[in-house]
Amino acid sequence: MRISYSSLDTYQHCPLKYKFQVIDKVKTPKSKEAVFGSALHEVMKFIHTPGILSPTLDQAMEYFSNAWNPAVFDSSDEERAAFSQGIRIIQDYYQKNNPANFNIVDLESRFQIEIGPDNDRHIISGIIDRIDKTESGYEIIDYKTTRKMPSQEKVDNDMQLSVYLQAFLSRYPKEIGNIDKLKVSLYYLKHGVKLSATRTAEQLKQNENMFLDVIRHIETKEFEPNVTPLCDWCGYQSICPMWKHKFKETRKIDTEEINVIIEEYIDLKSAVSITKDRLAEIQEKILQYMDQEGVERVFGSHGIIARTTRKTYKYDEKKLREILEPLDKWESILKVDGIVLRNISGTLPLRIKMEIEKAKIVDKESKSLAVKKNQN
Ligand code: SF4
Repeated sequence: MRISYSSLDTYQHCPLKYKFQVIDKVKTPKSKEAVFGSALHEVMKFIHTPGILSPTLDQAMEYFSNAWNPAVFDSSDEERAAFSQGIRIIQDYYQKNNPANFNIVDLESRFQIEIGPDNDRHIISGIIDRIDKTESGYEIIDYKTTRKMPSQEKVDNDMQLSVYLQAFLSRYPKEIGNIDKLKVSLYYLKHGVKLSATRTAEQLKQNENMFLDVIRHIETKEFEPNVTPLCDWCGYQSICPMWKHKFKETRKIDTEEINVIIEEYIDLKSAVSITKDRLAEIQEKILQYMDQEGVERVFGSHGIIARTTRKTYKYDEKKLREILEPLDKWESILKVDGIVLRNISGTLPLRIKMEIEKAKIVDKESKSLAVKKNQN
């Protein structure tokens, strides 16, 4: 398979989005976030393109202004706010960095790497924003224009940076001996913060295996939707089964009756949950009252409430084993407990977690309805 890093990333976030974008090739207009990000990436390239003199702050701001596309914004206020933010980012960048101090090796560097065993090769392609020569080695930098900054732990395990480093090493194979001096960084432009890490050869191998795993999933044509906060930025909402009903014009059936049923279901579910909370609250009060009165049943004009005791038991595993093992029945009562497995999963190494994930198969499937009430 030939696939770009960004497509792999899309599949990992939402397989259905991958299908719309890569397989069905459904075009969507560029979002304002993407337009903003592209403009800043262009400026960064301009700032660091090697020349006799590095551009001044004024020249960088002018470049940004020329690259700016106001058409994608919903209102002039929104557009002005975004433009000012872009200018602030560039000013902040100049305050923290002197472009003349960097030894740039490559900008917007295209790559293609091959991964996988000889009989199952795949090509991953992508673009590295910037590669610098540093005093001790090299630094690979990717600019981010997202609002949210990840933790250092995420950067330490970021797949994008690993694949970029792998691409760098395929171009400069001798540098593998110097791997601890090869820095990989994400520069969060909105925050003016750069988070850096290094990788080991073993981590790169693990990363490659994870990619192979994603590719295998893609090849099995599993394209389930995955609803996350990222849906807010997805251009496929109007054709996605998780969202398209929101758009009245895409509904096949839009009768008064069905709309009433939907509203009624939401209201009933919400009433049930309010009732459950209230029940728990008054149950507590009645139990206290029973203790004070020293009674096990209380009488009201609508009926009687009785206290019942429900006990849950667990078995002494050692004793049970001693009884069942001689009868050859011990193995047959052992079954995998999903909750326990999830609890210990955090303590397991990544490779084991991935193997456990691969061992997962669908047991039973049933459909139910979940309600998310609008905040009024
Ligand atoms: S809207 Fe969300 S669930 Fe639907 S395709 Fe886009 S990212 Fe996936």
